[in-house]
Amino acid sequence: MVPRSLFRLLQCPTCQSRHLYVTADALHCASCQSVYPIESGYIDLMPRQMAFDYRSKYVTEAAELAEELDYRDLAPPLLAAGVRNRALKRLLRFGPADIVLDNGCGNARFATWNAQQVGLMVGSDPATLFADDALARVALAQADSRILPFADGSFDKAFSIDILEHFPRHVIDAYLCETARILKPGGQLLIFSNTREPSPIQPVIDISRHIGRFFVQLGWYDFQREARRKSDHLKALETWEDVEAAMQQAGLRPVRVIFWNSLFTTLVEHVLMKLGEALLGRTPRQRKLTSHNGSQHASGVQREIRARQRLRQPLQRKGVLYYGLQIITLLMELDLWLLGWMRCGSYFLVVEKPVSPRYTNQ
Ligand SMILES: [Zn+2]
Repeated sequence: MVPRSLFRLLQCPTCQSRHLYVTADALHCASCQSVYPIESGYIDLMPRQMAFDYRSKYVTEAAELAEELDYRDLAPPLLAAGVRNRALKRLLRFGPADIVLDNGCGNARFATWNAQQVGLMVGSDPATLFADDALARVALAQADSRILPFADGSFDKAFSIDILEHFPRHVIDAYLCETARILKPGGQLLIFSNTREPSPIQPVIDISRHIGRFFVQLGWYDFQREARRKSDHLKALETWEDVEAAMQQAGLRPVRVIFWNSLFTTLVEHVLMKLGEALLGRTPRQRKLTSHNGSQHASGVQREIRARQRLRQPLQRKGVLYYGLQIITLLMELDLWLLGWMRCGSYFLVVEKPVSPRYTNQ
């Protein structure tokens, strides 16, 4: 959606002017004459006449990825997304007056799940693969995170989930610098991302991976979809020291960190859920065939998408399946509660934009 309250936060992404006016179908900059069309459900606020050397695959391959990402319908926040969402709520403590930015929102599922709890939830992303619910409930901007179309100090809180690992270092720096700019002093940013650091208990975690690989060899399932999703992970911030240095450079002060050592999570993701998906994702024909021929399976991506689509209806009704998956989500979250102190690659980090020194000295 494009609510009126969104316009109050905006500045021209091309010339940074705040002299903007709205007509029925577009936002106009009175200073540089740029026109930003209001599309159905979002507004196009990409900087005009600017070329960037880096573009995410979600922008360049949007059309091909659209089907595979299966982005239109939202399931409730469960499993790994459920763990992220619960950590997001717990760490940012949304309030009813908060103006919040999901910076790099993708289909804006995290923004949608939390939109009811805040004053204004804004999602921005250069790709426009937004979920239907997000188009209805989140203030959406097509924007580049290196030149955000928002005025300084516009937001109380911001979050960045599964973003930084995709960017080269100079884009990370620009992204953090811009996010710091649009936060109010004292405003907080939650980052979920990962470095290349292994967990100290990696050999134990890998037991689940070995079991998973065994089932892959049997042909019961595969990890094609996961591999595709991670195919552009650069992890330019290789170590935790790199993360701290990047935050310092952007003027963001670390407040809290929880590491995600995925002991229970890997068991769930590589074994339990994949077995469930393999069962649910079979086509009707295959279900008949498997009774006498176990090797008939669809390609991994198709199977997963089918499994997800089959689950969606029963999940919306919140029956046994929903509560079962809720319990598995809590099992995965045990990793944060029990092992969150143990430094590893995946992290939830809360950073704060310091209140200006001239205020704190008084
Ligand atoms: Zn302008």
